[in-house]
Amino acid sequence: MIENNKVVAIDYSVTDETNQLIDSSDGREPLKYLHGAGNIIPGLEQALTGKQVGDEFTVTVEPAQAYGEHNPANVQQVPVDAFSGVEQVEVGMSFTAQGENGQFQVTVTEVTDDTVTVDANHPLAGKTLTFKGIIRDIRDASEEELAHGHVH
Ligand SMILES: [Zn+2]
Repeated sequence: MIENNKVVAIDYSVTDETNQLIDSSDGREPLKYLHGAGNIIPGLEQALTGKQVGDEFTVTVEPAQAYGEHNPANVQQVPVDAFSGVEQVEVGMSFTAQGENGQFQVTVTEVTDDTVTVDANHPLAGKTLTFKGIIRDIRDASEEELAHGHVH
């Protein structure tokens, strides 16, 4: 049964509220995580507690329990001149920016002749996500895994 300090393997797919596929383990190894260590988003971790190998799940997670709300304060318009080193700035590009508290990632969301709009929110912020999948394996974590807080 899934509980804290178990290593859990799941096959899954995740879609947003418009049913667009965002990610899936299709064609890859199942995702392994350490339950209770915050390796996966809180809403999904909570919903998987108590499940057994072979159990299927469908879990819809609100932004607050996923990647957070979309904060408009993290969206900025900057002059296109700020990107003079870039040949062509396009929507969807991401850049590393330097802020007061270190580096952070921004994604370009709009480009006009004069300005570029960049968004420093997590790309999945504000999205309600639906996870569908199946529990493939559950095992005890090793002491080393518990000490590190992740799966080896
Ligand atoms: Zn480690």
